[in-house]
Amino acid sequence: MFDDDDLIDPVQEDEGLHTFGFDTRAIHAGQRPDPTTGARALPIYQTTSYVFENADMAAAYFNLQEYGNTYARIMNPTVAAFEERVANLEGGVGGVAFASGLAAQSAALFTMLMPGDHVVASRALYGGTTTQLKHLFRKLSVELTVVDPDDLSAWRAAIRPNTKLLYGETIGNPGGNVLDIEAVAGLAHGIGAPLMIDNTFASPYLCRPIEWGADIVVHSATKFIGGHGTSIGGVVVEAGKFNWSNGRYPVVADPSPAYHGLAFHETFGVYGYVTKLRTETLRDLGAAMSPFNAFLFMLGLETLPLRMQRHVENAQGVAEFLYGHPMVEGVRYGGLAGSPYRPLVKKYLPGGAGAVFSFDLRGGREAGVAFIETLQLWSHLANVGDAKSLVIHPASTTHRQLTDEELAGAGISAGTIRLSVGLETLDDLIWDLERGLAAARRVVESRQEVRA
Ligand SMILES: *Cc1c(COP(=O)(O)O)cnc(C)c1O
Repeated sequence: MFDDDDLIDPVQEDEGLHTFGFDTRAIHAGQRPDPTTGARALPIYQTTSYVFENADMAAAYFNLQEYGNTYARIMNPTVAAFEERVANLEGGVGGVAFASGLAAQSAALFTMLMPGDHVVASRALYGGTTTQLKHLFRKLSVELTVVDPDDLSAWRAAIRPNTKLLYGETIGNPGGNVLDIEAVAGLAHGIGAPLMIDNTFASPYLCRPIEWGADIVVHSATKFIGGHGTSIGGVVVEAGKFNWSNGRYPVVADPSPAYHGLAFHETFGVYGYVTKLRTETLRDLGAAMSPFNAFLFMLGLETLPLRMQRHVENAQGVAEFLYGHPMVEGVRYGGLAGSPYRPLVKKYLPGGAGAVFSFDLRGGREAGVAFIETLQLWSHLANVGDAKSLVIHPASTTHRQLTDEELAGAGISAGTIRLSVGLETLDDLIWDLERGLAAARRVVESRQEVRA
């Protein structure tokens, strides 16, 4: 029988004699040899449910008086190992995994917000997140104000008496904005609200927002955590420092009618929010991570440090190649000397500015299409964070309904190209980009000939 002691991170049990490094924890945190079989790899517990030894044990589990497996919509040992590992790497007290990044975010918000609450968020968020906040949560009467993430006074000015959450991304999309996490956390805490950070683009290897004051960290594990473009998943980690009993979050602090009057924060202390997130929100929304996906994400985490080093190295090489190329108008990568985000990169991302960034190609939409269609090694698709290099041209895909003026409003030009730099040989990536840029140049030249 799987004993919940096995879920306790062996690294944290260590009696302060030795602190294990990030790379060691990426391989060991949250997992021990299987107590029943000795299997060293993480077993996939492909089961919906777990036999109770007796009726009292079942009752104690359902009352949350004891921690034990009941039903795989809310807990599974393979998924639990993944949750423990991500929480450990992010420096949080606990984590809850979900079927996708967007499911993780919506559950994190559901757990703390009520109708009439207000959220202030960066306007440079992942598109799906903006839509979720703007439309899905609007239906639940949660109001949203989006602000320029670089402008601290805009964050401050957007705060209202009913503001219950500040929300941003470590590295924004597609502008590559780096958030001043510590400053925005200061603003949030000044009004007794938590700061939630989507750390997908940095991964815990490059940045740990909790160290800078973030209260909740969310990930689309689909991206760098999985790292191979195989599975959709998400995870929420809580720092365990926020005081949910400050009078502003009755939905977390007060006795819950959805869990026979249990007061989560009072009963579980620093684990109150994550316990509610799992046993109420995940139970009711039902977007659970499958054990097989958790297994794949655990494999991804084992090589996260190595992969991120190479991702960043290649991204730096590609950005430097593009910068100053005659067909390129601008490159938005925090690793470049001229980036306005250099000071923030130094502070928050000392290991590198990530591997997803955009650049502007000369020649507009047609040049963008020619560029994309010529590439061989770079896959044209809507994802990031794969071992394989990926590319997308927003003006002809995700943003194709927009006019050039509307694109400008979204911070995108007709020639904006977004790259997710993979792990291939750098020379080969540049070779392929050169071919694409040459094709784009031919489009521009033929247009000039027509005019002449
Ligand atoms: C992909 C992504 C999401 C959404 O995650 P899914 O796993 O696709 O639901 C959220 N935030 C960021 C930054 C992402 O890249």
